[in-house]
Amino acid sequence: MVKRRKTRPVKLGKVKIGRNSPISIQSMTKTNTADWEGTVRQIHRLEEAGCEIIRVAVPDWQSAKSLSRIKKGINIPLVADIHFLPELALEAISQGIDGLRINPGTISNRAALVKIFKAAQSKKIPVRIGINAGSLPGRRSKSLRKDMAEAALKAMRLCQDLKFYDLIFSLKAFDIEETVGAYQLLAKKCNYPFHLGITEAGPVSAGSIRSAIGIGCLLRQGIGDTIRVSLTADPVEEVKVAREILSALNLRRFGPTIVSCPTCGRCQVDLIKIVSRLEESLKGIYPPNRMKPAIKVAVMGCMVNGPEEARQADIGLAAGRKEGWFFKKGKKIKKIPEKKWVEVLIEEIKKFK
Ligand code: SF4
Repeated sequence: MVKRRKTRPVKLGKVKIGRNSPISIQSMTKTNTADWEGTVRQIHRLEEAGCEIIRVAVPDWQSAKSLSRIKKGINIPLVADIHFLPELALEAISQGIDGLRINPGTISNRAALVKIFKAAQSKKIPVRIGINAGSLPGRRSKSLRKDMAEAALKAMRLCQDLKFYDLIFSLKAFDIEETVGAYQLLAKKCNYPFHLGITEAGPVSAGSIRSAIGIGCLLRQGIGDTIRVSLTADPVEEVKVAREILSALNLRRFGPTIVSCPTCGRCQVDLIKIVSRLEESLKGIYPPNRMKPAIKVAVMGCMVNGPEEARQADIGLAAGRKEGWFFKKGKKIKKIPEKKWVEVLIEEIKKFK
């Protein structure tokens, strides 16, 4: 059981971050923000996939001016990501965004930061101080983790001077060791909530593994209040991976979890095909943003580990040749023929209480 770090809660639109709130999932659009209709369409796809907070890049005035239209067209909190131009942050705030992300490595002028923080404070908008290894202000030591934590602390001190406490911090690098080390250092110095991520993690396969290891390692230590998986791919993939990370650590459940064996020479059925059919059928019945019930469904390929895994799951099937044993709540219920496996499992999942 993960014991979460006690953090100061922050409200980002309708989503609470920190304290005991569920660890939220966020993503970032990959559209041109100035194309607000295209951006809203992508956000709708992300909402469908289970994204709970969305961030958009705001590199120019046209993008900044599109924010209120984007906000009106979506159902999840909108965060504007600003670099270099402080006036875009002020415009974003006046457009009605729910949160702001700034990077002290790209906006370092104290007077500009004070203006942004005061504007956010007056509108009760939280700000994420997003430190990134690729744009770290004033490197001082040979330790990347220490420099990242120090950059965060410097911004934190400025906000505290202004009595502005609605802050979230992130310390992202490609290197997992440095990222984890930086978050651990900062966790010892404050109780602000953390947004976790491994930056520039790469394409889907490698990036998912990198993110799962880095983010998972921190979450396992109780560190982290909201997560974003960064992938060079459709952002919907980021949400899917984020869900798997939280679900694997039992931090959140999003619907039926399939426990299935890899199969081997003992398996006498096409288990890969059966599990794929089950997975596809579940997607049709429980779209990601309304998945329920959160149960474990075991589908095992033979009688070696099958019966025990099936018994430990809420619903289980231990496959044999042409027929398999069906289990429910730890009890062996009945034998069912192979051609009815998926059908029976789906029926039982639907009526499971
Ligand atoms: Fe092989 Fe059976 Fe184990 Fe599946 S459950 S991997 S078929 S031994």
